[in-house]
Amino acid sequence: MIAATQTNHPHAGVQEPRSKESFLNEACNRIRNAGMRVTKPRVALVEALLKQSGPVSIERIHQEVGVNSCDLVTIYRCLAAFEELGLVRRSYLHNGTCLYEQTFDTARHYHIVCKTCGKTEKVNYTLANDVEQQLKDRGFEQVSHVLEFFGVCPECQLAAKSLARGTSVSVPTTISSPQV
Ligand SMILES: [Zn+2]
Repeated sequence: MIAATQTNHPHAGVQEPRSKESFLNEACNRIRNAGMRVTKPRVALVEALLKQSGPVSIERIHQEVGVNSCDLVTIYRCLAAFEELGLVRRSYLHNGTCLYEQTFDTARHYHIVCKTCGKTEKVNYTLANDVEQQLKDRGFEQVSHVLEFFGVCPECQLAAKSLARGTSVSVPTTISSPQV
């Protein structure tokens, strides 16, 4: 489970600008326009991404799509293509593990990743967009960037303190096990 589900829109159900179906349609259009075929695994991948509420590992996405329906290499290739098409954003755990998130219902944002449990939360940081724009103004094309924040979440700090005192509290559930 992913803990980062802060809702900024109290009337999200009413104000939702795009449905998941419309994103699926748009995704298929972008895939077609890129000269790629809209295959079953690609559609299944888009649907799997839409089910997630935050960034997830490739292995997790593979499980969601169904390990028997396509192999991990196909998922890798599809995600790389989807990133080019702007359908997914990539982020990283502090150990370098790659995470992917669909771009459907969220404005560009960053993540703070807990170094202990791997939990991610959203971080709003608009300065990087200005830098990207400056670089585009200077004539650069296909400008992208990677920016991650890492720390230890309050729950893990509490767990560590309790452990030091000899009392145990449960550590938050992880999205994927960081290999420390
Ligand atoms: Zn944590």
